[in-house]
Amino acid sequence: MLGHTEEAGERPRSVTEPGSVTPARAVTPAAPLRISPARLRSSLLAGAAAVTALWAVQVHPSARLDALFATGAHLSGLLAGYGVLVMLFLMARVPAVEHGVGADRLARWHAWGGRWVIGLCVGHTVLALCGYAVHRGTDLLTAGGELLGYPALAAATLGTGLLIAVAVTSARAVRRRVAHETWRALHLLTYLAAALAFAHQLAGPEIAGSMLAVWTWTLLHTTVAALLFWYRLVVPVRQALRHALRVTEVRREGPEVVSVMIQGEGLDELRAEPGQFFRWRFLQRRLWHTALPFSLSAPVRENTLRITVKAAGNHTRRMRRLRPGTRVLATGPFGALTAHRRTRRKVLLLAGGVGITPMRALFETLPGGPGEVTLLYRANNAAQLVLREELEAIAATRQAALHYLLGPSDASFDPLAPQALRNLVPDLAEHDVYLCGPPRMAEAATAALVRAGVPEEHIHAENFTF
Ligand SMILES: Cc1cc2nc3c(=O)[nH]c(=O)nc-3n(C[C@H](O)[C@H](O)[C@H](O)COP(=O)(O)OP(=O)(O)OC[C@H]3O[C@@H](n4cnc5c(N)ncnc54)[C@H](O)[C@@H]3O)c2cc1C
Repeated sequence: MLGHTEEAGERPRSVTEPGSVTPARAVTPAAPLRISPARLRSSLLAGAAAVTALWAVQVHPSARLDALFATGAHLSGLLAGYGVLVMLFLMARVPAVEHGVGADRLARWHAWGGRWVIGLCVGHTVLALCGYAVHRGTDLLTAGGELLGYPALAAATLGTGLLIAVAVTSARAVRRRVAHETWRALHLLTYLAAALAFAHQLAGPEIAGSMLAVWTWTLLHTTVAALLFWYRLVVPVRQALRHALRVTEVRREGPEVVSVMIQGEGLDELRAEPGQFFRWRFLQRRLWHTALPFSLSAPVRENTLRITVKAAGNHTRRMRRLRPGTRVLATGPFGALTAHRRTRRKVLLLAGGVGITPMRALFETLPGGPGEVTLLYRANNAAQLVLREELEAIAATRQAALHYLLGPSDASFDPLAPQALRNLVPDLAEHDVYLCGPPRMAEAATAALVRAGVPEEHIHAENFTF
């Protein structure tokens, strides 16, 4: 039905059978450490400024062409080395960063910063080559051949080549054609590239010229390597051993959608918050080789985690046939779409399609009195609504508003238009908005919310794509 909205039913419940809600008994963990996006951004920029200062104190002003090339090469090289380190740090899955900034935002920064790093690497190579050629009075080809004779420069060239290969496979047009696992495997080459770049930098004049610079640079690299080793290797293994997760049930929720219940030991130690996600690896044939991100679709309770999964591709399709007893490796929790982002008394949760999963968990657990929490759930038609009974039970229990916004996305009536949103939520501008849905819906909804008077800093969104 086009642009159809429905209020929630009036059936309060307190039951534990499928499709039911236990009144908000969510785990309320002590606030974990979180680094805000603004703080992380300013720290990283301060690091770039410090690297530039290191270059500035070493630079010998000269108007000679080869010296100018060399000076430019030094600055771009130092910033490229720092940039590689930052790119690795952003992906190290440090909890304070993941919970404060959010995995999707980190991935966007990584993708954006990666282009700059490649640009700096290429700029550094070209400037160094030109400087050397001018200095030696040779052509570029001869200069290139001579430079490759130096082991540190050959290593750096290989490192740059690897980074370019990774960048090419990450370009949107190529990535769409490459399996996620292949893309990830190729991405591992960046570790090798970073190691080669590090060897090159230690041999170069900018770092090697000062003992303080050598120690600082080495400390920075060791710290990032230790963080990667700890959070991407040790923590997942420890979590697997400690929690011993297994699938207990797979429940059909609708066409193409299932909920998977996963039980384990000591799950409160994970301090998972509603709105967060884990990366899940199911040790079953044709699934074990990939770790897929899924949000918790219910708060953690009784040592059970629940995810709700829409069949989007081969792996998610196979998940419909998961067998009870299947072992699960999960790493997390990740994500910053949690209660800590809230700044206002009133909250609007806006979900599109399977983006309902984190919203379902937040709808139950976000603190608020009657009328303070509203959920808008956008879907093409009523058959695509999932977890409907639970949502209606929560709405009735906590006297929250629930509206289904139904209709195809190309219909003439747009239920997410600013006026339509204001009709449903008259004091919309006084709300914090939590938003999760397909990228195009999320973009359109953000624009509509801003036009309807919601300040951008009060819109908290998470993308289901990295
Ligand atoms: C933070 C986050 C939370 C999510 N929560 C949910 C949820 O609660 N319920 C739900 O149904 N879906 C969720 N998704 C989407 C879900 O992860 C993808 O639909 C799923 O990974 C697709 O896997 P596939 O191999 O079946 O599909 P494919 O056809 O292989 O991929 C479909 C899309 O998913 C991407 N993708 C595939 N594998 C991965 C991976 N390992 N990591 C990241 N992206 C990948 C691909 O790049 C592609 O864009 C979430 C995604 C993210 C990033």
